[in-house]
Amino acid sequence: MKQERFSFIISGMNTTCDIAIVGAGAAGLAAAISAAQAARKAEAQLRVVMLEASDRVGRSILKTGNGRCNFSNADIAEGPAVANYRNAGFVWAAFEALNRAFPEPDFNDPVLAFFEDAGLEWRQEDDGRRYPLSNKASTVLDVLRAEAARLGVEEVCDTRVAAIEAPVDPDKPFTLRLADGQFWRAAAVIVACGGAAVEHIELANMRPEAVQPILGPLAVASADQAFTRELDNIRVRCCVSLFRDEAGELIHKHTESGELLFRPYGVSGICVFNLSRLAQAGDYVQINFLQMGDLDHSHDYLKSRFAGLTEHLGQAPTYEQFMRGLVVPRLTDAVLKRAGCNAQDTADVEKLFQILCLCSLEVAGMGPTDVCQVQRGGYAPNQFDAATMQSRVQPGLYVAGEALDVDGPCGGYNLHWAWASGLLAGHAAQAYVNALSSSQTLSHVGTE
Ligand SMILES: Cc1cc2nc3c(=O)[nH]c(=O)nc-3n(C[C@H](O)[C@H](O)[C@H](O)COP(=O)(O)OP(=O)(O)OC[C@H]3O[C@@H](n4cnc5c(N)ncnc54)[C@H](O)[C@@H]3O)c2cc1C
Repeated sequence: MKQERFSFIISGMNTTCDIAIVGAGAAGLAAAISAAQAARKAEAQLRVVMLEASDRVGRSILKTGNGRCNFSNADIAEGPAVANYRNAGFVWAAFEALNRAFPEPDFNDPVLAFFEDAGLEWRQEDDGRRYPLSNKASTVLDVLRAEAARLGVEEVCDTRVAAIEAPVDPDKPFTLRLADGQFWRAAAVIVACGGAAVEHIELANMRPEAVQPILGPLAVASADQAFTRELDNIRVRCCVSLFRDEAGELIHKHTESGELLFRPYGVSGICVFNLSRLAQAGDYVQINFLQMGDLDHSHDYLKSRFAGLTEHLGQAPTYEQFMRGLVVPRLTDAVLKRAGCNAQDTADVEKLFQILCLCSLEVAGMGPTDVCQVQRGGYAPNQFDAATMQSRVQPGLYVAGEALDVDGPCGGYNLHWAWASGLLAGHAAQAYVNALSSSQTLSHVGTE
């Protein structure tokens, strides 16, 4: 599209572009770069503009992975791990489309190839988690910004989009109304505003699902808070399982292992964050402080430790003797108090099993939501084509990243989704604008 076809000048800035990207976080940056790369490949002129509410692009990326940015996960490209995503069928179809759109002879992962091409050096940690080699989230943002600048993508910050109006005719542009009353025009729009903002943008006759914070800490019932308060700030490595009472029967839903952090309101830590994707009020979180997923093994271990200590001490150990060297004293005190056991009484293996392996806390709901990593909800994926992220009802309108109702566990899954869906949307939007420009002349829609 040639810019002179419709052109608005506001405060000295031409506010007409080919592709407007709403939000310059992970998905927005990937989309902008992908569109500009595709245009360069097609030797087409394309004005790509990122409209960002914050004072700088990519701020959300800097917070990720405790400032280290766990930007992807190797398991995703292996296949089965895709089932961990919400709306996994849609995500699977999108990843397949990404492999087709960006065939990579050396990788089976176009997201990784995208970052390597941009110059990011990375390394892999436990569970396939990928981080920049520098261990700094800012390095990820630096390579993205440099690549976007190299390709001529424009950053327009402190610009909050309030509404996106669909064109009245197919040959007319979208209108993006800003919170300050000004507007932009664009032939195609990619909405990449993240989950938290999705309900605050009016979008061309489309309604998002209500969003709710997840992937965060869990609050426990007030009766269990005396226990978690007593252990505030204690970290334990454990296995933690989620159970749901279904018609009087406790049904196992999921188990995670890792570090759990006690807080006055309940429990936190990555393993709890992952459980929070499935948990609902009334569920039970069951902690096995022995870090064993298998309860039979846990029981056998307790019996064998009890026998070993009995032989060593010349008599059966007390609870205190049994726990010493196994867990930290504050945990010993708290679990014994909760179970009504005296530390100096002779330990009982069955009681120890209850205390250490079946520590059950009732879930009251999510804990503080400001530390949740993802908002669940947003635009239902079935309204979009998984191969392009284009709306099924509004040509030229694309949604990527967390604005769609897709979320995954901790470990790089959510950023991987943001990059992947952004790459697809940018690539497809470029093709859309290209086709539009060769088939018809976009016309000026008149003055406001
Ligand atoms: C503390 C924290 C740590 C995390 N760590 C990880 C991790 O290590 N690995 C991982 O995979 N995931 C992690 N996540 C999740 C991950 O950050 C998100 O899933 C991902 O950033 C979503 O990308 P997005 O581009 O869709 O949205 P965002 O990255 O949130 O970007 C949206 C952008 O849109 C802008 N915007 C919003 N509204 C408007 C508007 N009206 N007009 C214009 N611009 C607007 C915002 O300012 C923002 O820049 C973490 C999340 C949090 C909160």
